[in-house]
Amino acid sequence: MTKPVYPSRISLAQLPTPLQPLKRWQKKCGGPLIWVKRDDMTGATLTGNKVRKLEFLLAHAIENDYGAVITSGGIQSNHCRATAFAATQLGLESHLILRGEAPEETPEANHFLDTLTSATLSFHVPQEYFKNLTKIFEEKINEYAQKGIKALAIPTGGSDEIGVWGYIAACQELHNDFNDASINPKAVLCATGSGGTQAGLILGSGFYLNDLSIYGINVCDDEAWFVNKIKSDIAAWKKRYQQPLPENYSDDLSINVIDGYVGEGYGKASDEVLATIKQLSSTEGILLDPVYSGKAFAGLQQEIKKGRFTEQDDIVFIHTGGMFGLIPFAERLG
Ligand SMILES: *Cc1c(COP(=O)(O)O)cnc(C)c1O
Repeated sequence: MTKPVYPSRISLAQLPTPLQPLKRWQKKCGGPLIWVKRDDMTGATLTGNKVRKLEFLLAHAIENDYGAVITSGGIQSNHCRATAFAATQLGLESHLILRGEAPEETPEANHFLDTLTSATLSFHVPQEYFKNLTKIFEEKINEYAQKGIKALAIPTGGSDEIGVWGYIAACQELHNDFNDASINPKAVLCATGSGGTQAGLILGSGFYLNDLSIYGINVCDDEAWFVNKIKSDIAAWKKRYQQPLPENYSDDLSINVIDGYVGEGYGKASDEVLATIKQLSSTEGILLDPVYSGKAFAGLQQEIKKGRFTEQDDIVFIHTGGMFGLIPFAERLG
């Protein structure tokens, strides 16, 4: 099989993460045996999927003499929190462009954690944020330049052609996991929020997993948006790295986005999602989050009910982390 040639990488995540079968869950709920890839265990302050991307993004920053990184996301962004901690650990300056108004009270959850790092933060109401994001990035890059610091813009979610490497590499890990567990799963599923995890999994599946099917369950936007986003991330990756492609690669590769579980919108969780989180936590002792992994896992349960996977199947759910996102929901969960 063709193997990719990796760019520089720094070690930030605790790897390999475990792959664990939800046996009690299957006994209770029926359906396929779900194996959870515990990427919520990539770290403590660095928990979640963004750390895998940051191993490549921040290696790129250091290698190219950037002294600062700038990134963006919602106030409760896991990616922004992970970037702030990783940058601080590496002695890089960082700035977070946060979508929303600065809360009048004490900051909460991820935002609270951001304030404990060396990162600087700025707040932008959604209308301004969506309209001017590129301009805000440019302004911040200029501000650093005036201080004589070269600053790297990392897009929302770390989803670009560099970040994509994180989940290409994760597929190599999954290949070993499947061998160790002697399983031949039918599909890998993950929550999709900015597309980079799924883009990496799709490429990585071609390199390491015999084109095993990858499904993203979107937690915002819609199927068309993600198909387009993932295609453009993969195209940018191809262009930048110019290297052998997976054997069955085609520009027309199928991108499986399971749409229909966004609910009331990004960051909003239904009672059903919260009930699923509680049920998994009380059955298996694994904590999902209401914004991403819990929403996707609840969506997966619906898909199983509809017959997409059966009792004979092994399937893999990537636990992408996000547990700090539970804190703002404590009252509704309690
Ligand atoms: C960002 C995030 C995702 C989505 O990953 P993308 O690569 O942005 O699609 C899923 N789960 C959690 C917990 C996240 O923070």
